[in-house]
Amino acid sequence: MPLFPMKLNTKIMDLLLDETECPVARMRLFSEGISVNARLFVPDDIIGDMGCIACGNCVDTCPVVKEEYRFVFVQNQRTSMALENMVGQECRRCYKCVVACPQVSKPIKEYASAFRRGEMIVHLLTAGIIISLAISGITLMHYSNFLPAQEISIIRWAHRILGVFLLLFMPVLYFVLDKRHLFRFLRKVSQWERTDWDWLKALVQHIGNSKKYPMPPRVQFNPGQKAWYLYVVCVMLPVLGITGVIQWLGLDYGYINASFLALIMLIHMVFALITDMLLFIHLYLKYLRNWAILSLDIIRAFLKGRHLSYALLYSSTATFQNKSQG
Ligand code: SF4
Ligand code: SF4
Repeated sequence: MPLFPMKLNTKIMDLLLDETECPVARMRLFSEGISVNARLFVPDDIIGDMGCIACGNCVDTCPVVKEEYRFVFVQNQRTSMALENMVGQECRRCYKCVVACPQVSKPIKEYASAFRRGEMIVHLLTAGIIISLAISGITLMHYSNFLPAQEISIIRWAHRILGVFLLLFMPVLYFVLDKRHLFRFLRKVSQWERTDWDWLKALVQHIGNSKKYPMPPRVQFNPGQKAWYLYVVCVMLPVLGITGVIQWLGLDYGYINASFLALIMLIHMVFALITDMLLFIHLYLKYLRNWAILSLDIIRAFLKGRHLSYALLYSSTATFQNKSQG
C-alpha cells in the first residue's frame, strides 16, 4: 500500500523543498490541479488547471511577509508570483504557503509538512534541554543554600541526566530521524563565504546607524545563525560537557583536587553564562522582538481606532467598526 495515493517524485521535491526560495508555485505544478468536482461554473474546461487563482492564502500565511510587510491588501499582489518577489532569498522553508494553497494536492501538502519534522523535533528538544539546563544550573549555583537537600539532589541529577542526554543522545536522534538535514546543517554552518563577511559588515553598520543602513536580509543560515550553531556544536557542548563530568567526578567521588575543581567550576560557570546570554539573543531575534512589535502594533491600533485589529494601521482601505458602537 503506497504511503500516498498520488505518486510523488520525492527526489525532485526534496531538492526543491531544501532551496531557500518560495516553494508554493513549484509544488502547485506537481499537483493535480482543479478537480472534476470543484464547484466552479465557468464555460471553459479548467479541470487539471494548476495555475495560481490569486486567492492570497500563501501571502497571508507567510512569516516573511508578516514581518516585512504585515498585510498585503492590493488584490493583484496576492499571488504566488508576488510572494516570490516579496520573499526573495529569505524563505524560511516553513512550507506554510504550500499547506495553505488550494491548488496544491493534499499528498504534497502532507509531504511538505513532514519534510523537516525530524529537524524540528530535534531543534525543539535541544532548545528545551538547554533552557532546562540553564534554569537548573542557575538554581544549583545560586540557590542551593535556600532549598532542602533532597530537592537540590534531584535538581543536580536532573541537570546531569539532561546534560548527558544533550551530549550523547541528541546527535544520534538527529541522525536517526533526519540524516539528510543533519548533513545539510553541518555543511551550511561550516561554509563561510565572502558574502557572509559582507553581511556581518552590513550588520555592524546597521547597529551603528539603523536609520541610514537597513538590517541585512534575515536569510536562512545567515552568519549570525551560523556563528550561534557553531558555538553550540564546537564550544558549548564540549566545554560544558567535559567540565560538567569533571565536576561530577570531583564532587561525588573526590577524585579531583580542590583547587583544580574550583577552576573547572569557574570555567563551567563562565561558559554557561555566555551560553545563557547568546540563547537570550537567539530567542530575542527569533520570537521576542516580533512579539514586542506585534504588541505595540495592537496597542497603537487600539489607541487609534479603539480596535484590536492592527491591520487598520497598514491600509488606508481597511476600516473597522468600533465594537462598542455595535
Ligand atoms: S517562508 Fe514559508 S510561507 Fe514564506 S515562502 Fe518560504 S516556505 Fe512559503
Ligand atoms: S495560495 Fe492562492 S495565491 Fe498562493 S499560490 Fe496558491 S492559489 Fe496562488
